[in-house]
Amino acid sequence: MRTWIKDPLAIFAEGAERGVVVEGSRIAERVGRAEAPEQIDSVFDASRHVVLPGLVNAHHHFYQTLTRAHPQAINKKLFPWLVALYPIWSRLRPEHLRLAVRMALTELLLSGCTTAADHHYLYPAGLEDAVDIAVGEALRLGVRMTVSRGSMNRSVKDGGLPPDSVVQDEDTILADSERVLKLFHDPRPGARIRIALAPCSPFSISRDLLTESARLAERYDCQLHTHLCETDDEEQFCLRMYGVRPVDLLEETGWMSSRVWLAHGVHFNAEEIARLGRAGVGVCHCAASNMVLASGVCRTCERRERRSGSAWTAPPRTTPPT
Ligand SMILES: [Zn+2]
Repeated sequence: MRTWIKDPLAIFAEGAERGVVVEGSRIAERVGRAEAPEQIDSVFDASRHVVLPGLVNAHHHFYQTLTRAHPQAINKKLFPWLVALYPIWSRLRPEHLRLAVRMALTELLLSGCTTAADHHYLYPAGLEDAVDIAVGEALRLGVRMTVSRGSMNRSVKDGGLPPDSVVQDEDTILADSERVLKLFHDPRPGARIRIALAPCSPFSISRDLLTESARLAERYDCQLHTHLCETDDEEQFCLRMYGVRPVDLLEETGWMSSRVWLAHGVHFNAEEIARLGRAGVGVCHCAASNMVLASGVCRTCERRERRSGSAWTAPPRTTPPT
């Protein structure tokens, strides 16, 4: 089935002034000025539309849509912000999560996003089917999605930050990770649904969970995701708990690979930026969160330079008008 998206008002692609031909889920042909495609099955009149690539969201917590700007969490840095919200989040039930996912995905779709990545790491009793709920809503709304099976197994009693009521033990986490990988994960290019494994952050997990998650990702050919180097507090926690900096913890547990993308990456030093670039580790920039929680600024240009190997040069400065 070849569909011509015909004669758009404007299009964000060169040599496609008269639109594109879509075959299945791929763009099969660009139609240039004064051209017409040879063989098509249907035409979509795009004369009142602008054609843009879908935006890609690389890190989200859909369930937090319900507690956005909660009064108890205003004007706090990351750790006190989390501690204020964990007790509220511990009362999350499947019907709340379903609505939160639906709302978050609807917001994303309305903003032009067609691929999303939810990181769900909160598992109070009764919410064991969180991944199944997210997959169901994504299929219903037609968005492409990486559902990150998050996890936390280090609660306050083990020196971590979250309360006991929202964490699971390692065996439960790994068994459920395998269950959802078998059920939903599609590693093929263009897949509608993928599963990633996503231990939450160094202050809420064990070293062992990182290692075992990496082994499982290798077996099922899926991506790995976690929060890393978001705040100074996290760096201090790692030095105290593991005796190493956060990036060294990744190295020791088999996470320095192109299978991995990290959220935040604010507090890397220059040597770590180079090391992550060599390993092909991705980092997604969470600018709004970093500003709200005053976490710092991600050095995105240096990261990009190290990842691609191409030098980044600052745009020329122009003299402001006087
Ligand atoms: Zn996050």
